[in-house]
Amino acid sequence: MPLVQRLLVLGGGSAGFLAALACKKHVPNLEVTVLRSPELGIIGVGEGTTPIVVHFLHGFLDIDPAAFYPKARPSWKLGIRFIWGTRPYFNYSFHPQLHARYPHLSRANGFYCFDDMEHAELASSLMSQGKVFLRQPDGSPILGNDTAYHLENETFVGFLEQHALEQRIAIIEGRVVQVERDEQGISGLRLESGVTLQADLYVDCSGFRSELLGQALGEPFYSFDRTLLCDRAVVGGWPRAGEPVLPYTTSETMDAGWSWQIEHEQRINRGYVYSSDFISDAEAEAEFRRQNPKLTETRVVKFVSGRYRRGWVDNVVAMGNACGFVEPLESTSLSVICQECEGLAKTLRDSSGIVHPTHAIQYNKLHAQLWDRIRWFLSVHYRFNERLETSFWRACQQDVDIGDAQELVDYYTNNGPNTTWGATLVHPHDFFGLDGYWTLLVGQKVPHQCAYQPGPEEVSRWNEVRRTIQAKAAAGLTVDEALAVVRSQRWSWNREFYRALVR
Ligand SMILES: Cc1cc2nc3c(=O)[nH]c(=O)nc-3n(C[C@H](O)[C@H](O)[C@H](O)COP(=O)(O)OP(=O)(O)OC[C@H]3O[C@@H](n4cnc5c(N)ncnc54)[C@H](O)[C@@H]3O)c2cc1C
Repeated sequence: MPLVQRLLVLGGGSAGFLAALACKKHVPNLEVTVLRSPELGIIGVGEGTTPIVVHFLHGFLDIDPAAFYPKARPSWKLGIRFIWGTRPYFNYSFHPQLHARYPHLSRANGFYCFDDMEHAELASSLMSQGKVFLRQPDGSPILGNDTAYHLENETFVGFLEQHALEQRIAIIEGRVVQVERDEQGISGLRLESGVTLQADLYVDCSGFRSELLGQALGEPFYSFDRTLLCDRAVVGGWPRAGEPVLPYTTSETMDAGWSWQIEHEQRINRGYVYSSDFISDAEAEAEFRRQNPKLTETRVVKFVSGRYRRGWVDNVVAMGNACGFVEPLESTSLSVICQECEGLAKTLRDSSGIVHPTHAIQYNKLHAQLWDRIRWFLSVHYRFNERLETSFWRACQQDVDIGDAQELVDYYTNNGPNTTWGATLVHPHDFFGLDGYWTLLVGQKVPHQCAYQPGPEEVSRWNEVRRTIQAKAAAGLTVDEALAVVRSQRWSWNREFYRALVR
């Protein structure tokens, strides 16, 4: 492949702008162009994130929070509240919850949580009490590094576009109508206007259309439909009218899938993810409206869960929905995009633009591992959810392929939420870690055979620890209170906090 001096990114959604910004930031001499078609537009959904996205934006891209907050208008997310399994609910936070072990207790937290998981750790306790950050003596928030954002896709992309222009990234509007090929892979993109654009490396961020990787290069697609049965979402929302801004995403079991609630400052965003084999669009809409009488207009988004065999083929690197998508249950797409962007930007930086097939091999390993790990983690949500006895959930309990998660589930079945072999049970590219698996299994009250029962002294010690956590969290700030502080004159952002997180 020739020296990479010109990068052409096809697509101006979040994947396209994040890829362009990452490469420009770490290879400043690179000529970076984003090509997008306003008439095709962007997906317009994709609002939940994980802390990886926050670290990437303010660490790897070094975007100043003082510029970001007023324009992108994020709100904070500590995790997900699951209305799932047989408990009324349980919290999955980004902070170690069941994996942690407190002094004077003989086992990790998971062993004390079967009946009651509340206040097992600080983030989960903050979530339960509608608080987002602990309070400093002067009343300002103590920001943690385990916090994610809720972002409105179009507002977020609007911010990224403006930031890209400031970084001297060219943005061209036009629609690709023909892809020209040569022995390197792709030699040019012909636009409707008749112009042909050329580059040394093409980044395919064209969304589900996957114009370059899927369509032009014909890379095979691996469907995840034996694990993830849902293939559509009906999405909508309403303007916030006095409801508190919750510090988490809610994921709630529905007849033929599940629904999300994502918290924006001015708007509540909801979506019902369902399987079209089990419910029609009209029936899903009706169930969604019964659950959410305040809904205004809705629309249906179709998707396919799976990934392309490889993400980097010849001179094309694909990111975002153009290379893979799993349904939104753990809000992982933007996090995968950030990891892929980091992989490509570091490759170009550290190779001085001389890329080899050996780079593509490693990128493709990362691509496969990231998507496959998410698939297996999500499988555990579906296989063990016994909240509703509908035909969809019966099919999930009987048929969902849990693949590589089987080893973790077998270990849990024998040993309970034991942490001894965490490092060998969980793959290094697993976002969720042992804590994530144990939270989902204990949270859904999946039975295990471990005979250990804490005695009265341990139970009393455990309850004492939880009361302390609960009291500490109760004094925290709500999202509204914390937003007011970070917008006030007295607040200044500590940029080193995020820079220190860059590896
Ligand atoms: C129901 C649903 C819910 C989701 N929820 C989440 C979530 O909570 N969290 C999360 O992280 N992710 C979520 N996602 C995924 C998320 O929306 C995307 O991964 C993310 O926004 C990136 O999108 P993208 O940039 O790949 O694609 P898009 O936003 O679709 O952008 C594609 C771009 O390519 C351009 N393009 C395409 N073809 C051409 C052409 N021929 N010529 C010129 N330009 C072209 C378009 O104009 C557009 O600019 C969700 C997805 C779905 C379907």
